[in-house]
Amino acid sequence: MDTSKIFQHGTLGLLVPGLYDGTITAGELLAHGDTGIGTLDGLNGEVIILNGHAYQAREDGQVREIAATETLPFASVHFEAPQQATTVSQLDMADFQRQVATDFQLMNVFAAVRVDGMFKRVKTRVAPHQTKPYKTLVAATATQPEFEGTAVEGTIIGYFAPHLFQGATVGGFHLHFLSTDHQLGGHLLDFEIDQAKLSVQKFADFQVHLPIDNADYLAEKFDNDTIDSAINKAER
Ligand SMILES: [Zn+2]
Repeated sequence: MDTSKIFQHGTLGLLVPGLYDGTITAGELLAHGDTGIGTLDGLNGEVIILNGHAYQAREDGQVREIAATETLPFASVHFEAPQQATTVSQLDMADFQRQVATDFQLMNVFAAVRVDGMFKRVKTRVAPHQTKPYKTLVAATATQPEFEGTAVEGTIIGYFAPHLFQGATVGGFHLHFLSTDHQLGGHLLDFEIDQAKLSVQKFADFQVHLPIDNADYLAEKFDNDTIDSAINKAER
């Protein structure tokens, strides 16, 4: 079990023009990590992977465990072994991100960020399931359900990536949430921590696994500027 690297299937950039076909099974993905985030085939919801179990937050607000045979177009996983842990309290999302990036000197580092505890408020969004012909990521996420909770116990899991890697992944923070009771999940838009434990795991290695048997992926001419602006719109 290699705890020194992030394994990422696909790129965030491939979602931008609408390459939403699942190209790795959840079973294969979980062989590369027990913790992470992603989305399902057809941009179907938000994926949260904790303790070796993959969950889907769906656009109807339900959370369910993903079967090993289901497929994903994009996901990042790692084997959890945080090097540092501390407590955090009374922080909103902007302050949290600023403080964590500074305190752990993340600017040029890949890191997994996990927060377990009590949240005063949490706001998530869930990408709506797409059918072919697929819309672009910006069009697909122009209207998407948002979910909110107050006084929620749960877990934030996600990554920080150097801005140099925007396009390959999300430059900066990309965080998902799952409540302990599995009643609230999704891609984090906003939150305020009440009291929680923060764990940080830095990685020297970032492994990108590409869907080289997917005809649409092979034929797509990616445009960096379009990808950059779409990620800033759809993933922050
Ligand atoms: Zn996300």
